[in-house]
Order: sequence, then C-alpha cells, then structure tokens
Amino acid sequence: MTIQEKDKKYIWHPFTQMKTVGDHIPIVKGDGLYIYTDDGRKIMDAVSSWWTTAHGHSHPLIAAAVCEQFKTLDHIIFAGFTHPKAVELSERIIQKLPYLNKVFFSDNGSTSVEVAIKMAFQYWYNKGNQKTKIIAFENAYHGDTFGAMSVGGRSEFNKAFFPFLFDVIYIDVPTSGNEEKTKKQLKEVLQNDDVAAFIFEPLVQGAAGMVMYSAKVLEELLLITKSKDVLIIADEVMTGFGRTGKLFATDHLVNKPDIVTLSKGLTGGVMPLGLTVCTDKIYDAFLSDDHSRTFFHGHSFTGSPLSCAAACASLDLFEDNKTWEQIEMIVASHQEFALKVAGNKQLKEVRQTGTIIALEFKTNESTSYFNSLRDELYAYFLERNILLRPLGNVLYILPPYCIHKEELDIIYEAIEAFLSES
Ligand SMILES: *Cc1c(COP(=O)(O)O)cnc(C)c1O
Repeated sequence: MTIQEKDKKYIWHPFTQMKTVGDHIPIVKGDGLYIYTDDGRKIMDAVSSWWTTAHGHSHPLIAAAVCEQFKTLDHIIFAGFTHPKAVELSERIIQKLPYLNKVFFSDNGSTSVEVAIKMAFQYWYNKGNQKTKIIAFENAYHGDTFGAMSVGGRSEFNKAFFPFLFDVIYIDVPTSGNEEKTKKQLKEVLQNDDVAAFIFEPLVQGAAGMVMYSAKVLEELLLITKSKDVLIIADEVMTGFGRTGKLFATDHLVNKPDIVTLSKGLTGGVMPLGLTVCTDKIYDAFLSDDHSRTFFHGHSFTGSPLSCAAACASLDLFEDNKTWEQIEMIVASHQEFALKVAGNKQLKEVRQTGTIIALEFKTNESTSYFNSLRDELYAYFLERNILLRPLGNVLYILPPYCIHKEELDIIYEAIEAFLSES
C-alpha cells in the first residue's frame, strides 16, 4: 500500500469531512519556507503550516536546541520538580510581558485558553464573589476543548455540543464603522455584576476569516472594562510572536490584560506548548491553607523540556534584529500589495495587519468557511505549488519570517493571475 492508501485506512484527520476529502498529500521534508512531497514537489508554505512555524520549517537553531535537550533531559514530572529551560523560558516571557508575573504551562492553544477560563472562574470563587459570565466577541475562535468552544462563536463547527456549552455574552466585533456599537454593547453588558472576564483575540480574529479591528478601539474597550471589576483575557495564540508587527498584539496597547494565552508561534511553531501568563493579583487569590483554593490543573506533558528548549531557541531568533528586519519587509510588502489590489472588482475587502494580509472575495454566497470558492482557491494555488488555505472566501497570506521578498512577489503574482483569469 502507498502512504496515501495507508493514511486512508488508518487516519481520521482534523477538521475534515472524511467522506468527501481527496487524498492527503504526503510531506517528507520541510526546510524554511518549503515543504517537499514524497514525489518530489516543492511547495511554498505561505500559511506557516497552521499559523505556527514562525521561522520556517526545520530551523537549524531550534533543531539543535531540541536535539541537545533530548540528550540531556527529555521529560520531568512538573509537580515537585522543575528544570532550567522552563525557568529560563518563564523569565524571558515575563521580561517581554512585564505587566504580568506568573507563567502556567500546558500543551497547546486550546489548553492555554482552558486554563485562562478556569483561572478566571476560580479567581472569583476563591475571592468568595462567584461570577459566572464571560464576555466574548461574535465568531471568536479560542480552540476546540469544551471551555474554549464555549467562549468561541456558535456555529456549524460546534452545533452538536450546544447543549453542553456554558452561556457566554457576545458582543459585536468592532470592525471599522462598528466601533461605537460595540462600545455601547460592552457598557450595557458590564452593568451585569456577575461578569468574570472578557476574552478576545486582539486585533485579528484568525479562524473567523482574518477579521481585523483597530488597536484604538480595543484600547477603548479595555478602558471601559477596567472601570468594572472584570478580568481581561487576551488570546494571543495566533497574534503572538510578531504576527501583528510587534512581538505581541497587546504591545500596541497602553491598557493591558490580566491574562495572556500563548501557543502556535511560541516554540517557533514546531513543538506543542501552551502558556497562560497572569498577574500576581490572580496568582495571589490562589494562595491559601485551604486546599480547595489550589489550582488543580495539569497535564502529563506540562512544562515539557523539549518544548521549552524549542521556545527558548525561538526567542533567541526573536531577539535577533534580522527577524525584525524580515517582519518589517513583510509588513511593507503586504501594504504595497494591498494598495495594488484594493479596488479589484472581485474583492469585497482587502485587509492587512502586520504580517497578515487577507483578501475577501465577493461571491453570491455569504462570507463563510463553507463558501464554495474555498476549494477553487485552494486547488488553484496548490497546483502552482503555493500552499494557501482559504477560510471560505477569505484568502490570506501568513508567511514564516524567513520568506524573501522575491518569494512574496511570486505569491502576489499568483493571486493577481487568479484575479485576472477568473
Ligand atoms: C489556533 C487557536 C487556538 C487553539 O490552539 P490549538 O493549539 O489549535 O488548540 C486558540 N485561540 C486562537 C486565537 C487560535 O488561533
């Protein structure tokens, strides 16, 4: 049997209708911007392999750090024990998020959000002031575990679980023109005394279709929230690590969250790791002689030395000016391309924040993940050896920072070709 036949026989893929999906493409090698198929194709990974591989595939510095760590210490139970790489990573993350004080480890983006929600609910429980409501944006995506699903938008993706998801108060995303409406909604829902937290994806809602809103309105929303006793959770799982042009999206703000969740780009996107970073205000509410105040949460792989080693190596790369020159080059190139295609008749909107550019196509169907243009776009670019994985009728580029200007131009030209041919 071929790899594809065995794959069909044994594997159930994520986010995939297995009845209608075609063959999965076997990839046998990754190097920088490129992935290589078993039959010799070289494909540009223009979406950083599910928004993770910040520095590209198989980066030699990260690979060396993980190999070295593997030979030294592979795994250590993280209760009763600690290890140098977890401590180094935590210290460096706190230096980069200086308004936060404590780091809690888990395994991925969903668990980092799950931990944030549990922390927020238990914070109020421990303070003897039980608050049970969370405010979230419409169409938000925070992951696929139950808590993370609950604070995400309700859609086809989680319909089967509606009865089991806890109630959330949704407000509109403050996209351009809707800022005042959202501010009004937030003020209204904050009248409610039992709001525990406000959770959001800062500046860019990824899975919703790269929906963007300004730092200015987010600043105003945080100021409004801070007038009440409500915790603020910024889900930086996707926006973190340079995506918005700064290390964190919240670096664009003066008002800061109480909790930040990190994953995806954290390890350079190559090892699973999630962090939930919080203030001493939250941490201190769990200090007690009463056992029931303890944060009873953990995973077998909490604080994985291998993941921590990858994350430290990735931070080394983020402390290298060359990475920031690259990020600035991507931002400038995207801005230029956005201007070039902005008026195109086939496009409803072109949006760009930092290293992310999104083109929303006009179609007869509504803008959604299930828009049929998706398959056409996906196939068109893949045939040209460019991996772009549209969210419905929203085509976006989210490149690794190792990409060269000439390679970006190849992607832009392919998009222009699609626009002129169709
Ligand atoms: C991807 C994502 C998550 C979930 O992360 P996983 O590692 O896939 O569980 C959570 N929040 C945001 C904003 C994301 O983009």
